Amino acid sequence: MKDQAQIVIIGGGIVGVQIAYHLAKLGRTDIVLLEKGEIASGESSHAAGLVTQFATSQTMLRFRMYSIELYSELGLFNHVGSIRVASSREQLKELERSVSRAKALGLEVDVISPEEALKVMPQISKKDLYGAIYLPRDGQLDPYTTTTTVAHLAREMGVEVGTDTMVTGIELSPKGEVTGVITSRGTIKTEIVINAAGMWAPRIAAMAGLYVPTTPVDHQHIALRAVSGNEFPENTPCLRDPDNLVYMRQEQGGLVIGGYEPNPLARWIDGAPWEHGGRSLPGDYDRFEMLLEGAIRRIPFLDQAGIITLVCHPGAYTPDCQPMLGPMAGARGFWMAAGMSLNGYGGAGGIGKLMAEWIVEGESPWDIYAYRATRFGNYYNDPVYAAERTRESVKYYYRLKFPHDEPEWARPHRVSPVHYRLLELGAVFGEKFGWERVNYFEPGKPSRRMGEDQRQWGWAKPPFFDRLREEHKATRERVTLFDLTSFGKIEVSGNGALPLLQRLTDSDINKPVGSAIYTQFLNTRGGIESDLTVTRLGEDYFWVITGSGFIGNDLARLQMYADEKDGEVSIRDITQEYACLALWGPKARLVLQKITNDDISNEAHPYLTTKPININGAKVYAQRVSYAGELGWELYIPNNRAPIVWDLLMNAGREFGMEVGGYKVLDSLRLEKGYRYYTADITQLDTPYEGGLGFCVHLDKDDFIGREALLKKKQEGPTRKLCTLVLADGDEFTQIYGGEAVYHEGKVLTRVRSGGYGYTVKKNILYAYLPVDLAKQGNRFTIDLIEGRREADVTASVLFDPKGERLRA
Ligand SMILES: Cc1cc2nc3c(=O)[nH]c(=O)nc-3n(C[C@H](O)[C@H](O)[C@H](O)COP(=O)(O)OP(=O)(O)OC[C@H]3O[C@@H](n4cnc5c(N)ncnc54)[C@H](O)[C@@H]3O)c2cc1C
Repeated sequence: MKDQAQIVIIGGGIVGVQIAYHLAKLGRTDIVLLEKGEIASGESSHAAGLVTQFATSQTMLRFRMYSIELYSELGLFNHVGSIRVASSREQLKELERSVSRAKALGLEVDVISPEEALKVMPQISKKDLYGAIYLPRDGQLDPYTTTTTVAHLAREMGVEVGTDTMVTGIELSPKGEVTGVITSRGTIKTEIVINAAGMWAPRIAAMAGLYVPTTPVDHQHIALRAVSGNEFPENTPCLRDPDNLVYMRQEQGGLVIGGYEPNPLARWIDGAPWEHGGRSLPGDYDRFEMLLEGAIRRIPFLDQAGIITLVCHPGAYTPDCQPMLGPMAGARGFWMAAGMSLNGYGGAGGIGKLMAEWIVEGESPWDIYAYRATRFGNYYNDPVYAAERTRESVKYYYRLKFPHDEPEWARPHRVSPVHYRLLELGAVFGEKFGWERVNYFEPGKPSRRMGEDQRQWGWAKPPFFDRLREEHKATRERVTLFDLTSFGKIEVSGNGALPLLQRLTDSDINKPVGSAIYTQFLNTRGGIESDLTVTRLGEDYFWVITGSGFIGNDLARLQMYADEKDGEVSIRDITQEYACLALWGPKARLVLQKITNDDISNEAHPYLTTKPININGAKVYAQRVSYAGELGWELYIPNNRAPIVWDLLMNAGREFGMEVGGYKVLDSLRLEKGYRYYTADITQLDTPYEGGLGFCVHLDKDDFIGREALLKKKQEGPTRKLCTLVLADGDEFTQIYGGEAVYHEGKVLTRVRSGGYGYTVKKNILYAYLPVDLAKQGNRFTIDLIEGRREADVTASVLFDPKGERLRA
C-alpha cells in the first residue's frame, strides 16, 4: 500500500467508489480508497436496487438523472420504468404539486389517470387508486454488481483500492490541517481525506475531532415468491405507493417489497460497531406486517405469496434525511460524503461527480446548500435528540407531510427565555432547528404545538388565515412584538475580524461603529452562499446575524475562511446567549421610548444602525432593521434579562394597541416589501444582481470572494432577474407553496421561488426569475398552482412602501 496519496477515500460502498471513479475520470489518480472489509460490504450490500429520477429538489433531481444515465452507460441498469401511485385524494394533490415542481426543474412527467396506471401495471388493484405518475427511464440495478463494477473501473484508471484495511485514526497538524490517515496497514500521508464510511462516518469524523449527526435506522425489505398464474414479467415497472408506505420491484416472477415503518427503529445511536460488516440483522416480522398489509391492499393476490426472506439492515440517515456533503470546518482537508439517507444508489452517481468536481475546481458546481455537511453545526450533538429527529424524518419518507405540518417528536427541545410568557398568550408553536418558535397566536386559547395539523384542513385555506390578518394589520398600523430568539448570532472579533468579513461579504463592512449592514457571502461564481446582517459594534468587534436554520453553514464558512495572515480572530456562536425581540410598526418608537432613557429618535438612532441602550439596567443592542418593512428594532438582550424586557414592552405597548406576532405573518409582510428569503428566492446559483440585491454589492472594495465573477456579470449584463408577480383574477387568497411551474406560451419557463398572500395589498404575491426580455411589468404568465392554472402579471418589485419611508421614519 502507498504511504502517500493526494486523496484518501474512506469507505468502499457505492458512494466511495463513485467518488474514486469520478476523480479518476478527471485525471486525479493518486488516490487510495480504503475499506475495512470487502467492496460493498456495508449498507451497499443490502439495497433493494430501485432507482428513480423523481425529486422536487433541483440538485437531487440532477443527482438521480445523472446516476441513472451513468449506470445505463455502464450496462448496469435495467430501465423497467417506475410507477408512483396516489392512494388518497390528498396524495393525488401532493403528486400534482410535486409534478408541477419537478416539471419546473426540467423533468418530463405528468399525472396519469387510474385507467392509464392500470395499463402500465395491470396487477395493481383499482381500489383507492386516484392517479399516478409513470417514468419509463426509471428502473432497477443489482447493488453488489454495480458497486464492485464501479470500483473495478476506478482501479483500472489507477486508483489504489485497499480492502481489509481499517482506518483507525486521522492525523492533524497543530493548525488543524489533515496530514495523514492511520490504518491497520500503516499510515498514508495526505492532505485530503473523504469520509464515505456510511453509518460509521460519525466515528471517522470523531477521529478528527468533528461531530456529524447520522443515525443508523433499520430498513427492511421482503422477498416474495411468484404466485402461480400471477407471475410478474421481467419488465414489470418498479412501484411506489406512499400512502401504503411501500415500494416494490420484480425478482424472479415474485416481488421484493420494502417500506417505511411509522415508528422506525434507531440503533447504535452513539456509534455503529466496527465489527458489524455486511451482516443482515434478524428481520422483525411484527414490524413489517403493516407494510405487507399495505402491499396486499395494492396487489391483493400477494396474500398468497410465500416468503423467501426478510432482510433487515440499518441505513445511515441524517436528521433531515438528506446527505452530508462537502468540506467540514475544524479540520482543513476533511470532506464528508455520508448520511445518504437511502439516497445511496439513486444519488451516488451524481454525488460522485459533484464531489470530484468540487475537490478539483474548489467550488461546487450545483446548489448544495441543503446538503452541506456543516449545516447541522453542533446543534444536533445530543445523540438522543438527533436520533429522534432522524427517526421522525424517516417516518415521513413516504407518509404525506403537508407544507404547514411540523415535527412532533423530541419537542420541546430548545426554548427561548420568554417561552413561558408566550405560553400565557396562546402561542401556537412550530419547530425550527430544535427551537420552539411561535407560528402565530390564538389569544384566549391554551398554547399548543403544531404537528400534523394540516391533515385537518388538507389543501384548503388554513384556519389561521384570519389571525394572520390581525397580526399583519397590527404591524402595519400600530406595533407588534415578535420573539425571534432563534436567529443565529455569531460574534467575530480581533484584529483579523474586519479583513475576514471584508473577504467574505459583497458589501463594504468598513463602516463606522454602530452600522448594521445587510449583505451576502458569495462563492467564486458570484452565487449567494448566505444572506445576513453584519453589525459593527466596535473597531474589531462584529456580530453576524443569520436565519435560525443557517447558523451551521454560516459559522462554518467563517471558520473555514479565517486566515492567520489577517491577524487574530475569534469566532463564537452566541445564539444561545442572547434573546432577540423584534418590535415593528409605526408606533414602535413610542413603545420603546417608554422603557429606555436613551435617545432613540431618528436623528440619534437612524435606520441601519445599532446602539447599545439601557433597559432597566440591561445592556440591550437595539438594531434598527426590519424584515416587516416597518419602523422598529431587533432588540438583542442577554438571556437572563429578556423576560423583564418582554414584560416592560408588553406593559408599554398596551396603550398603543400592541399585538404579538409569529413567524407565519412575517412571510406575508416581507413579500409585500420585496424582501428575499435565502434558499428559495436567492441560492448558490443566483447572483445578487439577478436576485435584485445589486445595491449590496461594492465592486470598488479591494477584493472579496465572487468579485471577479460579478465584475464579469456586470459587464455582460444580467440575462434574468427575480421578479414580483401577482395573481391576475381576484384578490381572494390562493394557496402558493413555492416551486410551482411557470408557463409562457404553453411551455414551462421557470418556477415560483416563494409566494403568499399580502394582507395590506390584498394580492397573491409570488417571486420568479424571468429572462430580462420578459421581465416587463404587465407581462402575463400562467402558474400551475395546487388549485389549478392561474394567470399572473409581472408587477413592481416592491408592492408596499417602495421608497422605504416607513423604515426610515
Ligand atoms: C435495506 C436497505 C434497502 C435499500 N434500498 C435502496 C434502494 O432500493 N435504492 C437506493 O438508492 N438505495 C437503497 N438503500 C440505501 C443505499 O443502500 C445506501 O444509501 C448506500 O448503500 C450507502 O452507501 P455508502 O457508500 O454511503 O455506505 P456503505 O455501503 O455502508 O459504505 C461505507 C463503507 O465504509 C466502510 N468503513 C467504515 N468504517 C471504516 C473504517 N474505519 N475503515 C475502512 N473502511 C470503513 C464500511 O465497511 C463500508 O463498506 C437501501 C438501504 C438499505 C439498508
